[in-house]
Amino acid sequence: MLEISFFSFLFYLVNYTFFVYSLISIFLFITFGFLFLFRSSLFIKYTPFAFKRFDEAPSIEKKISLLFITSPDFFVYFYHLVNWIIYLSICFISFSNVFNLSFSLRIFLYCLNYNLIRPKADFDHIVAHNVFSNRKIYRHKITAILITYVFPLFTLEMPGMWANQHVYMHHRANNSKDDLQTLMYFRRDSLNNAVWFSIGEFFNHHFRLVVWHYDRNSKQLSTVVTNFAMLYISLFLYFQYDYAFCLFHLQAYYSASIAGYFFIEFTQHALINPLKPEEVMSNTVSTLRPYLQYKDKKIVINNELFYISDILHHEHSREANMHLLDAPFNFLKSLDKYHDKAMVFDTTYITVCLCIVLGNFEKLASLWVPIGPESSKMTQKEVIDMLKDHTRPICEPKDIPWAQLPEWPTYMMI
Ligand SMILES: [Zn+2]
Repeated sequence: MLEISFFSFLFYLVNYTFFVYSLISIFLFITFGFLFLFRSSLFIKYTPFAFKRFDEAPSIEKKISLLFITSPDFFVYFYHLVNWIIYLSICFISFSNVFNLSFSLRIFLYCLNYNLIRPKADFDHIVAHNVFSNRKIYRHKITAILITYVFPLFTLEMPGMWANQHVYMHHRANNSKDDLQTLMYFRRDSLNNAVWFSIGEFFNHHFRLVVWHYDRNSKQLSTVVTNFAMLYISLFLYFQYDYAFCLFHLQAYYSASIAGYFFIEFTQHALINPLKPEEVMSNTVSTLRPYLQYKDKKIVINNELFYISDILHHEHSREANMHLLDAPFNFLKSLDKYHDKAMVFDTTYITVCLCIVLGNFEKLASLWVPIGPESSKMTQKEVIDMLKDHTRPICEPKDIPWAQLPEWPTYMMI
């Protein structure tokens, strides 16, 4: 039982206010930008938000792209670079007021830019994996380094901190007890815990990662300290430059991050098979939606037709450097790996997240995609019991090596 002292009550209050504020803020922010998207579906088709394949592109784009990427297979990463350049240019106009625009017009421009042009986080993520493993997507390594370290700095995002935490901490520890963002020691069918996890993730990315590398005498310590310094120096400089715009930007960016930790990072490992908690295929969650652009990837499971999204976390966890658009094909090739009741759902992460934290296991069971003969034989009651079982704590907080660090702010109810 958690003792409710005055300070823990105060902390709950601050924590929840921050979280609810983040959700409302990101909702308003996204609605504001997307209102324009819905005006015309053509807009979606022709905005750089949509990624083309190499053979669909005009020849001039093909020629230019090959100056930057190592193979036509990586064409989407060239488009990603183009997105970054347009996004940065518009950010510069909104931040700097170089055209003497009013403050409200700059904010308006910024919201549209963030929602329409903003580079896809999934792509930044795969580029970061490839930079750290020295695999070449871009012809010149400097291009990938710009995307991972330098461009984010210009938009006040975390230059390298997130990438370092994700590649050198999370993927190496792979949701084991050594992982700062492990969900093993607390119940996942709890809104309370999911909120604490999201706020805790914020502290992991911004502060605790440095301590994690220091404790392990890791080779990454100097990199992470440099990234840490760059982040706070750039924040300081931006605040000197334009205080109001900087505040506006930070609340938008951090709201989006907190919502991302809650709906995506939490959900990706929220269901863990208690018999094999350390195994990737048993501690990971994938969703088949959203379909994004390529709705041609179909699969028939138990006589039912499913489309597959490009975001399949099991595939990514097994092969981090995989080309993002290859995930559906790799999924089809390795279906037998999913036979042991893998957590795959025919919906989006947002729906899975809400079903778990609100305890709606009937709905979650109806969205589960049973793969393989054993899974498809299960009754609805068995599926519900299995899902509930997958949300229980795997170990106690004292079993977690880094629990020696101050417990605040990731003290979860178990
Ligand atoms: Zn990854």
